[in-house]
Amino acid sequence: MKILAATGNKGKLREIREILEDEDLIIISPDETGIIINVLEDGHTFEENAIKKAVALRNASGMNVLADDSGLCVDALGGMPGVISARFSGADATDEKNILKLLRLMEGKKDRRAKFVCVLALALTDGHIVTAGGECPGVITACPVGTGGFGYDPVFLDPESRLTFAELSQEEKNKISHRRKALEELKVILKGL
Ligand code: IMP
Repeated sequence: MKILAATGNKGKLREIREILEDEDLIIISPDETGIIINVLEDGHTFEENAIKKAVALRNASGMNVLADDSGLCVDALGGMPGVISARFSGADATDEKNILKLLRLMEGKKDRRAKFVCVLALALTDGHIVTAGGECPGVITACPVGTGGFGYDPVFLDPESRLTFAELSQEEKNKISHRRKALEELKVILKGL
């Protein structure tokens, strides 16, 4: 089976290939097809957004398409920023501004529990849609720590290692990440198809 991955992110592509690719499954990148579309991520759930992206690109390409949506959900904020993680601080959001807004909202909060969530949607050419999800528990720190990663990594503490995701190496993060868990679940589902 050939699957077009709906992401131009090289890190994500590498992770998807590492986990899913074998003799029966080949991952194609958007660069290889020349088909690049922008989909408005206006869904209320990660699943809705992932399916919307996968279906739009499947319809445009006529190929099986794998898309993902992910974000940070903080318990004390009722699951926010959730699906708006990337644009939490507004239209001109940056990782720094998003983190600042998050830390301000978390001031004085005792419950610092949070999770990264990833939902994958695979839109198949026969019309079927397969979804898989992964979560990664953590704790929001009082201030940013570490220089690696992206997004909310500097304020997301892994309870096992007591390091933030920005302090872990890419390899260490990929071993425990929400995306890895979702990809592992999808792999199991695909084997059973
Ligand atoms: P996307 O699904 O890759 O577009 O991610 C949406 C947003 O969620 C990102 O812009 C980040 O703000 C946040 N996010 C998702 N995954 C991670 C992660 O592994 N580390 C840090 N932030 C993340």
